[in-house]
Amino acid sequence: MDTTATTPAPAAVPATTVPAPRRVVVIGGGIGGLALAAGLRRRGFDVVVHERDLDPAATGGYHITLDTAAQDALRELLGPVLHEKLLASASAVRRRPGDVWFDWRGRLLGDLRVRGLDPDSVDVDRITLRLVLAEAVGDALVLGSTCTAVEREPGPGGRVRATFADGSTTHGDLLVGADGPNSLVVRHLSGAPASRPAGVTGVSGRTPAAALDPTEVQRLGPRSSLAVGPGGTGLYVGYLDPDGFAVLDAAHARAAVTTGPTYVWGAMFPDATAPRGLREQRGAPLRDTTLDALRAAGWGEVPLQVLARTDVASVAAYRFTVGPEDARSTAPWPAGSITALGDAVHATPPTAGKGAGTAVVDAHRLVEELTAARAGTRTLHTAVSAFETDLRHRGSAVTALSMATVRRLLVGSTPAGSALTRTTLPLLARSTALRQRLTPGRGSR
Ligand SMILES: Cc1cc2nc3c(=O)[nH]c(=O)nc-3n(C[C@H](O)[C@H](O)[C@H](O)COP(=O)(O)OP(=O)(O)OC[C@H]3O[C@@H](n4cnc5c(N)ncnc54)[C@H](O)[C@@H]3O)c2cc1C
Repeated sequence: MDTTATTPAPAAVPATTVPAPRRVVVIGGGIGGLALAAGLRRRGFDVVVHERDLDPAATGGYHITLDTAAQDALRELLGPVLHEKLLASASAVRRRPGDVWFDWRGRLLGDLRVRGLDPDSVDVDRITLRLVLAEAVGDALVLGSTCTAVEREPGPGGRVRATFADGSTTHGDLLVGADGPNSLVVRHLSGAPASRPAGVTGVSGRTPAAALDPTEVQRLGPRSSLAVGPGGTGLYVGYLDPDGFAVLDAAHARAAVTTGPTYVWGAMFPDATAPRGLREQRGAPLRDTTLDALRAAGWGEVPLQVLARTDVASVAAYRFTVGPEDARSTAPWPAGSITALGDAVHATPPTAGKGAGTAVVDAHRLVEELTAARAGTRTLHTAVSAFETDLRHRGSAVTALSMATVRRLLVGSTPAGSALTRTTLPLLARSTALRQRLTPGRGSR
C-alpha cells in the first residue's frame, strides 16, 4: 500500500446545510466501488472512480457468490443488458447437487449445511464480475490512480478532496471509500483500521476438471465441498461451470472467464501454524509449500490431487481479514460528506461467500439514498446517515456469519480440537460409508 498521509476527520457539518451531491468521488474500483459508480452513472450523477490497479482484468480472485439480494441490486445498478451479460456468465447454485464434506483422506462425511446460503445464489468469476461492472462505469474509471490522502475542506458545505500518488487532486461533494480492507478512507474517518487478521491464511487456485483423474472428478462431483483435517487445516473446493449449469439460456451474451467445468480450491491454515513465508510465494513454489504443509498435517494424496494438478499461474496466498462483528463498532463515525462501503467497512473472510454480494447491496443502498437526496426529500447528511445505519447492521451480521467457519478451524487447531478431529471424523466416515452401502442412492452421493 502506498503512503497513507491522512488528515483527521473534521466534525460533521449540521445536517440542514448540505445539499445533494453534484459530484461523487469513489476511491477503489473493486466490486463495491464499481457497482456504486455504475448505479450513480445510470441515475445521471457526475461520478469518478480512482483505482490503483492498471487493468481490471489483471486481478486475483476466483468465484464470487451472489445471493438474490445482490442479483436484485445488480439489476438496478447495471441495467438490463449488462445484467443479462452477467447472469449469462454465471453458474446456478440450484442446478448442482448439494455441498458435502470430506475428511483429510478424502472420505465422505455427509451433506454440508451452509449457514446463510441462499439456494437461488449464482457463482460468477470475480474477474468477469469486475469487467462487467467496469464496462458499466466506462470512462468514469481512472486506472493506475492510487489515493494517498483524503480531507474535507473547512467550513460548512466544504468540498472533499482526494490526493493521489502522482500529486494530482480531485474534488467532490461526497467521497466514498470503496478501497477494501485496511482502507485509507476509513482510517481517515475513524483514526484506525476497520479490519484485523481473522487468524487464518488461505491459498487458492483453480483446476480444470479435465486435469483430474476420472475417479477424482467422480469423488468430488459437480458440487462444492469442504474437507477438514488435523491442526485446523481445511480445503474448500468450489465447482464452477457457467456452461453446464448456466443461469440463463443466453450463450450469445456469455462473457465468463471460466469456460469449462472448473474446481476453485482454497486451502486454509491457522496463522499460528501456517508455513512461514507463505504469503511471499507465488505459482509452483507456493503450490508445493502448500502441498508439503498439508501432507505434514496428515492429508492423503486423494484430496490433494486438485492442488497438485492446478494451473500454477492461478495460485495465490492471502490472509483473511475481518471487520467488526457488532453494529456499534461498525462505521463508528458521524455521518458527513465522506463515507465508505464494502470491505473497507466490513472486511469479510471468503468463508461465507458474502463479501462481494454485501458490497453490491451497500452500493445499491447508497445510490437509492443519494437519489432521494437529489429529489429533495432529504439532505446529503440525512441520506448518508440512513445509509450508514443500515450498513452497520448488515455489515456486522455478515462478518459474524463468515467468522463462524473461521472459528471452527481455529478450535480444530488446538490440541484437543485436533485430537477430536483425528478420532471422530474417521468414525463418521465409516458410518457414512456403511449407510451408503445399506441404502444405495440415498443421502450424500
Ligand atoms: C484480489 C482479490 C481476490 C478476491 N478473491 C475472492 C474470491 O475468490 N472469492 C470471494 O468470495 N471473495 C474474494 N475477494 C473478496 C471480495 O472480492 C470482496 O469481499 C468484495 O469484492 C468486496 O468489495 P470491495 O469493493 O469492498 O473491495 P475490493 O473488491 O477488494 O476492492 C477494493 C479496491 O480498492 C482498491 N484500492 C485499495 N486502496 C486503494 C487506494 N489507496 N487507491 C486506489 N485504489 C485502492 C483495490 O485495488 C481494490 O481494487 C477477493 C478480493 C480481492 C481484492
